[in-house]
Amino acid sequence: MRKKIVAGNWKMNKTWEEARILTAEVMGMVADEVTRPVEVILCTPFVYLSSVKSQLGNSRVKVGAQNCSEHDAGAYTGEISAGMLQSMGVPYVIIGHSERRQYFAENNKTLAVKTDKALASGLTPIFCCGEPLEIRENGTHEALVKQQVEEGLFHLSADAIQKVVIAYEPVWAIGTGKTATSQQAQEMHAVIRRHIAAKYGQMVADSISILYGGSVKADNAKELFACPDVDGGLVGGASLKSREFVEIVKAC
Ligand code: PEP
Repeated sequence: MRKKIVAGNWKMNKTWEEARILTAEVMGMVADEVTRPVEVILCTPFVYLSSVKSQLGNSRVKVGAQNCSEHDAGAYTGEISAGMLQSMGVPYVIIGHSERRQYFAENNKTLAVKTDKALASGLTPIFCCGEPLEIRENGTHEALVKQQVEEGLFHLSADAIQKVVIAYEPVWAIGTGKTATSQQAQEMHAVIRRHIAAKYGQMVADSISILYGGSVKADNAKELFACPDVDGGLVGGASLKSREFVEIVKAC
């Protein structure tokens, strides 16, 4: 059985005090209201990881980072390595979010290395892929997403790729309020899963959780998560409000 996962991506939001309040609220509501086996992850800014992690204690809510370096150590001012995250007990890291690809020129080649670094440190990478609007409009979105998955992940062994979580996030749906329809999401998740199956076999493909991301809200989550190949969500804006986020978790 694939893991159901809902991960909140806080991006560059919240003061430390606000982060503490949001964490406490999510942790409390998840404990009281979420009975299903959904993995809940808070991907906080690096500076809050340590305090959010200790605040969570042995709660079922986990922390994740939003990025890691492609280097192990050295003169890379401002960077954070996968090994540093491992040393703090951070279990998840987002790799290749479209904002990293767009504003920080991250490409499939760098992301393949980042994925390797995360896996080598025992972290679970949440590997993001997804097409921009013009690619969706010219009809080459399947080819582009397959290429992102291929170049980012297909160098991995069958064992290793099963440790990766994939997030399909159409760029035109991120932070825009424009969600993919459940049919569009299911189609693309099935494309990704078939592509993995063609290379690694159906059993491997069936074991990998593929999350949908792009304006997931409490009122559209249920329909999206009901799709057979959608195993949960990567949630940006709606993860900044505890009640909204927990309702999304409950829809999973
Ligand atoms: C994201 O940042 O991964 C995301 C999906 O953002 P939003 O939910 O705000 O569209």
